[in-house]
Amino acid sequence: MQDNEYKIKDYNIYKLDTRAKKSTCPVCSEGRKKKSQKCLMLDWERGLGTCQHCGEVLQLHTYEKETQSNYTYTKPYVKKNAKIFTYKNR
Ligand SMILES: [Zn+2]
Repeated sequence: MQDNEYKIKDYNIYKLDTRAKKSTCPVCSEGRKKKSQKCLMLDWERGLGTCQHCGEVLQLHTYEKETQSNYTYTKPYVKKNAKIFTYKNR
């Protein structure tokens, strides 16, 4: 069986423990009281994680398509300490 249509680019997007079957959820755990509760069920064979708390289904890998695209996702840069000065005309 050939299954090389998609190459795995990043096997572990969320930097989870690949030997673990459960993990904390990157979507909801941070906002929960029980931050360390492992509500995300991991299925490394399928590359999917399912959260039992928020119901989110996450792809654990990213794939590289055969066709080359140089698209890279960059996070929007947010200045933390940027202050906006407004000048009022008197
Ligand atoms: Zn969740």
